[in-house]
Amino acid sequence: MIDCFGDKDLKEAYLPKLNTMEHIASYCLTEPGSGSDAAALKTKAVLDGNHYVLNGSKAFISGGGENEIYVVMARTGDDSPKGISCFVVEKDMEGVSFGAQEHKLGWHSQPTAQVNFDNVRVPASNLVGHEGQGFKIAMAGLDGGRLNIGACSLGGAQRCLDDAVTYTKERSQFGKSISDFQAVQFMLADMATELEAARALLYKAAQKVSDNAPDKTKFSAMAKRYSTDIGSKVVNDALQLHGGYGYLMDYAVERFWRDLRVHQILEGTNQIMRVVISRALLT
Ligand SMILES: Cc1cc2nc3c(=O)[nH]c(=O)nc-3n(C[C@H](O)[C@H](O)[C@H](O)COP(=O)(O)OP(=O)(O)OC[C@H]3O[C@@H](n4cnc5c(N)ncnc54)[C@H](O)[C@@H]3O)c2cc1C
Repeated sequence: MIDCFGDKDLKEAYLPKLNTMEHIASYCLTEPGSGSDAAALKTKAVLDGNHYVLNGSKAFISGGGENEIYVVMARTGDDSPKGISCFVVEKDMEGVSFGAQEHKLGWHSQPTAQVNFDNVRVPASNLVGHEGQGFKIAMAGLDGGRLNIGACSLGGAQRCLDDAVTYTKERSQFGKSISDFQAVQFMLADMATELEAARALLYKAAQKVSDNAPDKTKFSAMAKRYSTDIGSKVVNDALQLHGGYGYLMDYAVERFWRDLRVHQILEGTNQIMRVVISRALLT
């Protein structure tokens, strides 16, 4: 978002350390009262001389409390999406604070916390793009983010499919390998087929985003919805094929089952993906 919409000075100030991952940035859109209806956000930014003064809270922020940089959507104008602007905020700016780390079903290696802004004075030069452009910038960021989340689901599901193939060949019941049962073979066949179809759609959407195609947002939403639904289904089937052992922490599949579940919720829920897709079809 900084690279695509920031001016030269902002890029020079922040991109070198982000590119080397010396610094990591969080994306701050969601608030306690606005999730799916992200444009209803209430965090305010008021211009005061050479600074904007930020007040409000962001919920569920990945990397919250750990990351050095926070790309924050805040209201500078009216209640519409056009009243939203985008700012680069640093962790150490006075008035930035964090809630406790959330206790989650999965994603335990990823910190998630509320981020609070209490009269945070952000230099006006840290505005990304222009005033009122923030929601557009936030949505453009999601096109790429949704591909990433879809890809995470595909990778996790592929690993679990590979594990299920190995396990069903090794595990014996009724005097033979459970992979000799056609019911098991057909499950594996469906898992592999659906995963491949999801991968093809994700690659097509990635090409559209790379090419800045006019229908990139629709394709990104389609790929995110399909890849994350199929990813979770494949992992669930892989767990089933491990029988009771799949439910134990001795095998990796239960962790993938927990970790992939959130992909159907974040970067916009899969219901909201359908809103995005149908809106593109009908307008
Ligand atoms: C682990 C984790 C990490 C996250 N990281 C970030 C982050 O880094 N930055 C960030 O900004 N946000 C982040 N989020 C927030 C995430 O994007 C939101 O949780 C998500 O957008 C849903 O918002 P909500 O939780 O408020 O649910 P709600 O919007 O309250 O939705 C509740 C239910 O209602 C449904 N619903 C709502 N509106 C409609 C509609 N119009 N039609 C049909 N169904 C609807 C939803 O699909 C959902 O099933 C993260 C969330 C999690 C869990």
